[in-house]
Amino acid sequence: MSADTIGRVPREGIPALAKSILETVSVEDARLAGWKETLEGYVLQEACRDDPYALLVCALALQAVGEGNSGIGCVIVDAGGGGVAYGHNRVFYPYFRSDLHGEMDTMDTFEDMRLDDAPGDLTLMSSLEPCPMCMVRIVTAGIGTVLYMARDELWGMTEDREKLPPIWKDLSEGKVFGRLECSSELLAASSEIFNLNIDELYEILKNR
Ligand SMILES: [Zn+2]
Repeated sequence: MSADTIGRVPREGIPALAKSILETVSVEDARLAGWKETLEGYVLQEACRDDPYALLVCALALQAVGEGNSGIGCVIVDAGGGGVAYGHNRVFYPYFRSDLHGEMDTMDTFEDMRLDDAPGDLTLMSSLEPCPMCMVRIVTAGIGTVLYMARDELWGMTEDREKLPPIWKDLSEGKVFGRLECSSELLAASSEIFNLNIDELYEILKNR
C-alpha cells in the first residue's frame, strides 16, 4: 500500500489535514478514542513554531496505531513551510513490511513524486527520533533538516550519528538535526501514542 500524497499544502492548511486524518481513526478502542478527542480539541500555540506539523505527525501516528502499526507519523516540509508528503509506519499492516517505518513510507511517497525541490531545502519531521535505517536513507537522500518530537533511547540514531559508518557520517555533516518546536502537550502525545502498542509489536518482531 502506498502512502497518500498531499500535493503542496500550505502551512495554514496543515491543521485541517491533521483533522481529516483524525476523522479516519476508529473509536472502538477507548485509548484511541481518547487520543483522537484530545488531538481534535487541541488548540495550536502561537509561540510554538512547529505546532501545526507536530499535530499532523501525531494524528498520523494515531492513525498508524489504529491500523495495528507502530505509532509514528512523518511529514516532509518544503522551504516555504508547505507540506509535501506524509506517511506513517506500515510495518505490520496490511502485511509485514520490514522497511516501512514512518520515515521510509514518507520518503517513498516523496521520491515517487519526483519534485524539483532541492533536498537540502527540505525538512523531514517525525513524531519519533529516526532509527539507524531511516537515518542512513535520509542522509543518503540529502534531506537538509531532520526534526523529531520524542527522543527514542532504544532505537534512535539521530543523537548517535557519530556512530554511523564513515561515509554516512560524512554525508550527515552540514545537515541540521534537532527537535520540533512544539508544545509540551504535543510532545507528550508523540511519546504516549508510540507507547500504546510498541511492547506488543516488539513481541511480534522477537518471535518471527
Ligand atoms: Zn526507522
